[in-house]
Amino acid sequence: MRPVPKKGILDIEAYVPGKSQAPEGVTLHKLSSNESALGSSPAARAAAAAAVERLELYPDGQAGALKTAISERYGLNPRNIVCGNGSDELLTLLAQAYLDDGDEGIHTAHGFLLHRTAILATGASAVCVPETDARIDVDAILAAVTERTKLVFIANPGNPTGTYIPFDEVRRLQEGLPKSVVLVIDAAYAEYVRRNDYEAGIELVSCAQNVVMTRTFSKIHGLAALRVGWMYAPDTIVDAVERIRGPFNINTIAIAAATAAIADRAHVETAVTHNLGWLESLTADLSALGLRVTPSVTNFVLVHFPAEGGRTAAAADAFLTARGFILRRVAGYGFPDALRLTVGSDEANRGVVAALADFMGGAAR
Ligand SMILES: *Cc1c(COP(=O)(O)O)cnc(C)c1O
Repeated sequence: MRPVPKKGILDIEAYVPGKSQAPEGVTLHKLSSNESALGSSPAARAAAAAAVERLELYPDGQAGALKTAISERYGLNPRNIVCGNGSDELLTLLAQAYLDDGDEGIHTAHGFLLHRTAILATGASAVCVPETDARIDVDAILAAVTERTKLVFIANPGNPTGTYIPFDEVRRLQEGLPKSVVLVIDAAYAEYVRRNDYEAGIELVSCAQNVVMTRTFSKIHGLAALRVGWMYAPDTIVDAVERIRGPFNINTIAIAAATAAIADRAHVETAVTHNLGWLESLTADLSALGLRVTPSVTNFVLVHFPAEGGRTAAAADAFLTARGFILRRVAGYGFPDALRLTVGSDEANRGVVAALADFMGGAAR
């Protein structure tokens, strides 16, 4: 006899983290985890350093300063914000609060791996809905809803696709769902999107009772190491999550750094501008090499390899790694022939294009 995990746990595939090791003597460019190319705001680092002076005190369990900063930035009622240890924690808590054994949670084929994990960890069934052209398919999601569906996760924009659906489509999804189903919009890359028809979710949360938007400080704000995320939700959903959240789920250093980061609008703008320029030129340069690039609105691109002439994603991965460029294999996300490339520094971006040109020119061309 030995302990057996509850239903669902052993159906979860253990997370395979990206590599981050380059061969000896080669400069490492980690372009595998969608981390910020420009790092965090100097103000955030100064605030973190100052917070280190009082490590004996418990954190503010309400993260009041951070909620105030977020609510001022976006014009929200702080009562409708919950902060989390990364948005990962909030996604997990939402699944825990709304899913039970026998229920169904929906996620999309290329949304975000954690959505499936969060659903299965509750004992509920995870229903994977296909996407169309690597984009969320609202009709497919609505067709998958049954009377057992309690929660739907979408990532908008998606990861690893980098694609998005416009506000009209998200609203059509919300309107088509039963009012008892929670729609969670994971908007981890919202700050990068510069499209008039995109809306991260704030508007929908404000006028519906069953919608939640999650956001993160890990991407545009460059604070992945500190693990800070937040969600914006109606009162009843905030109430449910507050009951199961750890009372000190985000630490003092993280609260201080994130509060300073969101106030540094100039740093965010610089990061967005850097990203937009490179997103465009990386897409154009890689396409010119004969690679197919899924059009992205985020800080990464999904690059598809032709496979003929031995130019597979696996071969490209080995080739690039030997030169210090670490990209993300995405076979586990349903793209065996692609790599995900994060927009990096100027030097890293130029270097990876040159290396891919060698790779594409080398073998059969
Ligand atoms: C990176 C990412 C997150 C962020 O998770 P954190 O726990 O806040 O670091 C959430 N959703 C998606 C789709 C992501 O790519």
